[in-house]
Amino acid sequence: MKIRNKLSLLFTAIIATLLFVFAMAVYLSYSQNREDEYYKELHKIAITKANLLLDAKVEPSVLQLIYRNSQNVLFQEEVAIYDTSFHLLYHDAVDIDKVKENSNMIHKIIAEKQIQFYQGKMQVIGLLYQHKNGNYVITAAATDQYGYAKLTNLKYTLIVAFFISIILIYLAGQYLASRALKPVSDMVDEVEEITATNLDLRINEGGGKDEIAELAVTFNAMLNRLEKSFDAQKEFVSNISHELRTPLTAMLAELQLTLGKERQNAEYKESIQHAISDAQKVVRLSNSLLDMAKANYDHTEITFKKLRLDEVLLDARNDVLHTYPDYKVNIIFEKEIENDDSISVKGNEYLLKVAFMNLIENGCKFSAQHECTIAITYHMDHTILRFQDNGTGISADTVSRIFEPFYRGQNQEYAAGNGIGLSLTKKIINLHQGTITVISELNQGSVFTIELKHA
Ligand code: ADP
Repeated sequence: MKIRNKLSLLFTAIIATLLFVFAMAVYLSYSQNREDEYYKELHKIAITKANLLLDAKVEPSVLQLIYRNSQNVLFQEEVAIYDTSFHLLYHDAVDIDKVKENSNMIHKIIAEKQIQFYQGKMQVIGLLYQHKNGNYVITAAATDQYGYAKLTNLKYTLIVAFFISIILIYLAGQYLASRALKPVSDMVDEVEEITATNLDLRINEGGGKDEIAELAVTFNAMLNRLEKSFDAQKEFVSNISHELRTPLTAMLAELQLTLGKERQNAEYKESIQHAISDAQKVVRLSNSLLDMAKANYDHTEITFKKLRLDEVLLDARNDVLHTYPDYKVNIIFEKEIENDDSISVKGNEYLLKVAFMNLIENGCKFSAQHECTIAITYHMDHTILRFQDNGTGISADTVSRIFEPFYRGQNQEYAAGNGIGLSLTKKIINLHQGTITVISELNQGSVFTIELKHA
């Protein structure tokens, strides 16, 4: 069911319930009022007749004549007057005799002084009337035809008004709901226009401050993020294919050229060396991409355990030195390690080693002496690692971009690379809820600082 219909039905149901309660209250109050008024009327007539008979000494036959000549004897109030010993003194019409009085009823009236009750639809009142020195029992009864007719009329008016109101309220609900939901249906139309090929489209925010405007702003913000990550993915893929194509094309050209004519052994050797170096670039790139994919895993899929950072660092240093024996990597402990906890973190050993290796390799390859120093220290709740070198440094205008995937700085000619190392390192540190920052001075060197919370 559409929200518009749901809303208008709900709206109608609520108002209908209120209207029903209201109509019932009006009806019941009117009905109670009619009953009370009619008992009062009967009381008044009973007293009047008693006075006419006892005070004014009007002959009973005259009173009966008046009664019988009234317009509608059947509906008129019929009065009977007895003494307290149940002797009938007067009766408007014995032949009609609406109330069948008996001695029980007379005794009850004497005991309670006044009683009132229904006999079918007819209201009956019985009262003990003191007149001069005597007590009399009077009964008066009649059906309040006029009052009932008004009550019935009121009932039908309320029923008709109730149903007409419900129809009007439902229509008003439909109108209100469609007005209230118009911005949403407009939004749906706009959203339907947005596909993967035109992610730059945005929906109208309308400038309002209501929930719909908030939804539009949130939706646009989500589209911004999607577009950004879509563009980043596209750029990433095109960078990867470029990075793969360059060494592969070079390798192919080298091998084809070598095979082009008969050559000396030394030339074959040199050509194979070049091909191996190009193949190594491809292997390094695919390893980096694999690590990047691992670092992009869902946090819950990566195993974390308590690690001593100095041990991971030593491991990373050994691996780098194994590949590049001419590099020099120094590790300095700035503070004495009093207990394991002060330099332990909860982390993934493999990924942290990859991050440290990237920073060590960068420090060494971008400095003439191929030397890098790592200082370890700790504070109350975190460990700090500073990777320092005295190399080329990074220019101020490129330093803000070095953590972007495939970005290579102004000094890229200085050493080979693919621009993935730092973006991967940052991803890994973020995954460990740590921070990485850089301070660098051209031709002076760079310091990369990593802070990681204790386990
Ligand atoms: P790559 O080293 O493969 O070029 P990285 O992502 O590791 O890619 O680094 C990105 C860029 O940051 C490098 O191209 C380089 O310009 C700069 N850079 C990183 N580390 C250093 C460093 N220690 N000294 C100077 N420049 C650096």
